Amino acid sequence: MSAKIKKYAGHPLKSAEIREGKVPTARWRPKAKYMWSAGVAMSRFLNELKNGRIIATRCNKCGRIMVPPRVFCEQCFKPTDNWTYVKDTGTINTYSASFIAGDASRIKEPIIVAIIDLDGASPGMGIQHKIGEINWKEVKFDMKVKAVWKPPEERKGAITDIKYFKPV
Ligand SMILES: [Zn+2]
Repeated sequence: MSAKIKKYAGHPLKSAEIREGKVPTARWRPKAKYMWSAGVAMSRFLNELKNGRIIATRCNKCGRIMVPPRVFCEQCFKPTDNWTYVKDTGTINTYSASFIAGDASRIKEPIIVAIIDLDGASPGMGIQHKIGEINWKEVKFDMKVKAVWKPPEERKGAITDIKYFKPV
C-alpha cells in the first residue's frame, strides 16, 4: 500500500527565481552534433549526382519510376525492383519566386524554386530545385529545363552538385 502525499516540499519554480539567482543553477552548452545515414536509396542517389547522373528506382508491379529513388513502393507495398537512370532534363511542374533570402532579408532578384518533373521519371515524381539563367517573370509552367552541373571536381554527392536548372 502506498501512502498518498498530500503536500510536496517546496513550490513550483518561477523563471524569475532562476533569473534573479534565488535558486542554485548550473549552466553549460552541450557539444551536440548529429549525423545520420541517408539510407540505401538516397545514398546511391547522392553518389550518382557526384558522377553527373540522376538515378531512380522502378517498381515492376505498377511500373512507376521514382525519383528521388526509394527502396519501397508506397502504392504497391513492396520493395522496388530495379535501378534506372533518368535524364537531367525535365519540365517545370510548379514554381515559386521568393523575394526573401536564406537569412530572411529582402532581395531584388528573387530565387526561383521549382518542382521539376524529370524526363524518364513517372508523372508526379518531381524534384525540387532552383531555376537560373532566366528573368523570373519569364518562367512558365511546363517550361523545358536542363540541369546545370558543377564541374566534376567540385561535386560532393549533394543535391547542390546541380547548381540549378536552366531553360532549354
Ligand atoms: Zn508499385
